[in-house]
Amino acid sequence: MLSGNENPMMVSFKNDELADRIETGNASQNRFLIFGKARRLEGTYPLLLHQINTTMLTWKDLIAFSKNGNPIPDKRVMKTEPEWRAQLSPEEFRVTRQHGTERAFSSDMCSLFKPGLYECVCCGSLLFDGSRKFESGTGWPSFTQPIAENAIAYNADYSFGMVRIETVCNTCDAHLGHVFPDGPEPGGLRYCMNAVALRIRN
Ligand SMILES: [Zn+2]
Repeated sequence: MLSGNENPMMVSFKNDELADRIETGNASQNRFLIFGKARRLEGTYPLLLHQINTTMLTWKDLIAFSKNGNPIPDKRVMKTEPEWRAQLSPEEFRVTRQHGTERAFSSDMCSLFKPGLYECVCCGSLLFDGSRKFESGTGWPSFTQPIAENAIAYNADYSFGMVRIETVCNTCDAHLGHVFPDGPEPGGLRYCMNAVALRIRN
């Protein structure tokens, strides 16, 4: 399994390319995303690549995680309530640390569709890649897959006679939103996120 870590690698360009976002691959089918706006002339350059997990999680996988245990995160960040309060805005604290929900259509992030990475507002861990964001019409930013299998943890809630799966940052336990099995194919997942729980990494 690949993680969401960033790894410096050497990349070769055969032709002059104006790269805003390039996807390439290697023999083991790993996929890499390159971000940058520099003009890359023919040659080999060290670049900071973002390596993403290509596993396609399904609803069955998420139910299994919630029942049998979540994937091990790359690291853990734990802080006290006063420390989170000091660091976050009142709305960020209410949503991420007190399992709140922001008002629908309250953020411009819903209609933002451009290449980019989305990180946890609490601990800065990468959670989503913009290429997996879609317009759900719900008023909350929605994604089809997390950036890595171990980026997010899943807690099932069986109350009210239905299964709801809460999503939390696997690094710091920030409440992010919920995931539902009515997303687009092929994965069929809809990660319905609170925009205040996310920050775009520049
Ligand atoms: Zn976090």
